[in-house]
Amino acid sequence: MVKNTLLQVWPIPAFDDNYIWCIHDGESALVVDPGDAVPVLRYLDEQKLTLKGILVTHHHPDHTGGILKILQSLKVAIPVYGPAAIAIPGRTEGVMEGDKIDIAAPRLSLKVFEVPGHTLTHIAYFANMQSNVLEPMLFCGDTLFASGCGRLFEGTPTQMSESLGKFAVLPKNTLVYCTHEYTLSNIRFALAVEPNNANLLAWAQRAQELRDQHLPTVPTTIGQELQVNPFMRCDSKEVLESALRISGETALLTPPHVLAVIRAWKDRF
Ligand code: ZN
Ligand code: FE
Repeated sequence: MVKNTLLQVWPIPAFDDNYIWCIHDGESALVVDPGDAVPVLRYLDEQKLTLKGILVTHHHPDHTGGILKILQSLKVAIPVYGPAAIAIPGRTEGVMEGDKIDIAAPRLSLKVFEVPGHTLTHIAYFANMQSNVLEPMLFCGDTLFASGCGRLFEGTPTQMSESLGKFAVLPKNTLVYCTHEYTLSNIRFALAVEPNNANLLAWAQRAQELRDQHLPTVPTTIGQELQVNPFMRCDSKEVLESALRISGETALLTPPHVLAVIRAWKDRF
């Protein structure tokens, strides 16, 4: 018999500001980017969930450091999905652009995007509308944050621009499960880029209220990010004007060039 319970997605806080997302149906669970095993194993135990798989977006230790310890604690082998293009200890299934992952429990189909920028082999997982999912979901690792984007450790601004472009065309109600609570500092920078963005000003107040209550500011949505995230707005007049002002350039900048200017600005902000 196939269970068709509504899926739930909960954050497991780790380190200072990481979120390890747990997707479950009340019995079976997946975790995304387990940088630390301890909080994951505690959460699964408390919620009486059976871990059925692990999804990994990129090779950084704060996203992969708990994998081996989690696997050692289980009695059965489970699949560990991750980018095919790089070796990650514990990974069993290498995936790439366009791959579809069908998971039986919790019942979920995911599509893989390659999103280079933060790292060269970074991937994201997208779940579109299904009978047991109310809204599409995106697990984007360190590529997209609420009101910000990941640092360019390995990739180029053009790659990041194209990667964010893949997200920009997803349904606006897609829930975006970011892996860090960086929102308030991202908003401070976003306001420097777009001081008159009314949506951003309203979001700044709402995000502060959430943090004052120690609540996560994520998931965000694609629709929200298109309104408030300067890195998703590199084709807007306001962000272009700020990029021209800060770079001292007078020529028309393309969106990847605008992204390069504001990413470099944020790195020293
Ligand atoms: Zn990272
Ligand atoms: Fe990270």
